[in-house]
Amino acid sequence: MTSAQLSTLGKASRESKFWNQYTETMPRDKIDALHLHRLQGLVHYVYERSPFYRKKFDSIGLKPEDIRTLEDYKRKVPLSDKSEFIDLQLADPPYGPTLALPLEFVAHHAETSGTSGKPLSLPFSMYDTVRYGESWVYGFWGLGIRPSDSFYFAFGWGNFAGFWSAYWGARRLGCRVISGGGLDTKGHINAIMRLRPTVLISTPTFALRMATVAAEMGVDLASSSVKYTYHAGEPGPTALPAMREAIEKAWGAKAGELLGVAEVDAMAPGCPNGDGVHLNEMNCFAWSMDPDTGAEVADGQIGENIVTGFASTTQPLLNYRTHDLVRRRSGCSCGRTWTKFEGTVLGRTDFMVTVRGTNVYQTAVENLIGQLPEISNSYELVLTREEDNDVMTVRFEPVKALADRRDAWDDIAKRLSDRIHAALHVRLRTVSVPPESLPRYELKTKRIIDERPKGFRRALDR
Ligand SMILES: [Zn+2]
Repeated sequence: MTSAQLSTLGKASRESKFWNQYTETMPRDKIDALHLHRLQGLVHYVYERSPFYRKKFDSIGLKPEDIRTLEDYKRKVPLSDKSEFIDLQLADPPYGPTLALPLEFVAHHAETSGTSGKPLSLPFSMYDTVRYGESWVYGFWGLGIRPSDSFYFAFGWGNFAGFWSAYWGARRLGCRVISGGGLDTKGHINAIMRLRPTVLISTPTFALRMATVAAEMGVDLASSSVKYTYHAGEPGPTALPAMREAIEKAWGAKAGELLGVAEVDAMAPGCPNGDGVHLNEMNCFAWSMDPDTGAEVADGQIGENIVTGFASTTQPLLNYRTHDLVRRRSGCSCGRTWTKFEGTVLGRTDFMVTVRGTNVYQTAVENLIGQLPEISNSYELVLTREEDNDVMTVRFEPVKALADRRDAWDDIAKRLSDRIHAALHVRLRTVSVPPESLPRYELKTKRIIDERPKGFRRALDR
């Protein structure tokens, strides 16, 4: 091939919408055949190598060769859950009998963020980190990020897995990487203005927090070098259109998002056309389950995402309960054949509330809050139990400019309540608190405050 031909080819691949067009547009029957092949390999692998899975399979008389179809896999392989792994790890630290590879193969130790108590230890081999990182690359590429871009990580580099894997992805893409470790919010802003990265990695809430602080410092982030922002860790730009608008306006950038489950994979990069994320079907197999009955739910219905990871070969997770509620769709205007989770994560099984017979999903409420410009980005959804019913109260802050306008706060509360009622057909209590009074978070923002008595919280009580 001549150098002119090579250069044309290079340009064509840079301009492609896909990081890997072959895998991202693979027909469904081929994807399913590949899943079955990989799942059969995986059940053999864990049965032979992981004491945890061998015991689990033996206890129900399951043999790897019993898995002949995808239906077999979904029905016969037992569900697994975070709490099982945590208990075993605590009894025999650091990983208990959950490893499928010798300890010396562990190249990276990470942990879940542990907002609900004890963290889960996550061992990754070098192979796992490369594959896990690639999930991010699919998302980065779809948004328009290329090897010539440079990444700024507004992240403390603790043990939390989330953005370590984004770093593996940035390395895989061959980009310049800049660490924001150890800096406070102002320090991040100064570093961005000085070092001129083109991509920001942070939680979506923290991107907005940085924008607020920058405005106070007299810095205009919209005219900074940042062209793309990419997020994970909590519902962001693809789940919450109002949030995307706010981030894109504040940063003068395109905002993207990925749905990850730290212990499994950065499993679902955002669709470039918005309104959802695509399951990376090269790294994961997933199906949706009714959390109450355990039955599979059809595409288009809301169910719990049950996932199996092909990128976590060190501590494999088979039919793993994510507790995320998703709505699966096949086919998408962007051309990807990978299953789409419309609206990203709609809520959590542990936080799903039924208010007077209506299921209320967290992101649905969040979207409505985001539509009122008088409300700040910090708010809480408080769950309580009153007279045998779940009750959700929205605790919100008016923006700082309304600090001295107490009279306006009640009006905002009423309009928010009306808007929720019109859209979701339930009346939620809406309560204002003074501007800047709710806590700010650099990592996962805690938006759900569950004050229901134990026994009324779904899933966690099982
Ligand atoms: Zn799409």
